[in-house]
Amino acid sequence: MLQFENVCIQYGKTVVLSDLYAHIEKEKLTVLIGKNGSGKSSLLGCLIGQTNHTGRILLQNKPLDAIKPRERAKMLSFLPQTMPESALTVRQLTALGRTPYSGLGGRLQDGDRKIIEHSIARCDLLHLADKPLNKLSGGERKRAFLAMLLAQDTPFLVLDEPTAHLDTLQTAHFYATLQTLVHEEKKTVLFAAHDLNSAFSAADNVLCLHHKQAVFSGSKQKFIESDLPKTVFGLHAQTVTDTDGKTRTFFYSPI
Ligand code: ADP
Repeated sequence: MLQFENVCIQYGKTVVLSDLYAHIEKEKLTVLIGKNGSGKSSLLGCLIGQTNHTGRILLQNKPLDAIKPRERAKMLSFLPQTMPESALTVRQLTALGRTPYSGLGGRLQDGDRKIIEHSIARCDLLHLADKPLNKLSGGERKRAFLAMLLAQDTPFLVLDEPTAHLDTLQTAHFYATLQTLVHEEKKTVLFAAHDLNSAFSAADNVLCLHHKQAVFSGSKQKFIESDLPKTVFGLHAQTVTDTDGKTRTFFYSPI
């Protein structure tokens, strides 16, 4: 689905990522992890042309920079870590997700309007659809941007720290939506997270950055069974099965 080949990112003389290779598996929910400053946002920024890099990034086997912006916007949607304050309403923002199909300021068709309303409903925001974003809570605003991504209806979604500032239950709901997108609607999702416990409950796969490289790319279980929780984060990992049969992973400090 997505491949990074020999990707290097450098700010001035500081190398953040060097010679990075990784493969993001199709129809999986992959969490991008690494300590603060390990390059997660920088790497994701490459996918929307925000971070200068060398090397190749292939999306569905095509070099990303060879895909026209409008085509790319039909293939990949992106939720940045910080979202702009805006006087747009939830519905107006969600409608922006249809821009790759209708053109900027283009006429929305009935089909577009249905998708917009459905996306707002899925994010539980119908009661706030006409409210401006700058009058919403942080969690509601996050959901509004997710509604815009849903309306964009791309096979590949990328989210940078999507649950920062959400409470525990909101985080669980947010991840449940991502799981539905992947496991029922066959989307591919890559998201960066720093709260390992909640992210690992949701994710299928892990991409881990450490010492300027991708030190792991593969299944969550293999990551947990490796030495990497200890060597990268200084944490122990343990998986438990709860009463309804769900497995959950806990990271904890040995201190
Ligand atoms: P993470 O998302 O893993 O916390 P970032 O990608 O935000 O890491 O940052 C990686 C490193 O690159 C950090 O040391 C950060 O200070 C630096 N950095 C990020 N963006 C810039 C920039 N625009 N200019 C210079 N340095 C940057």
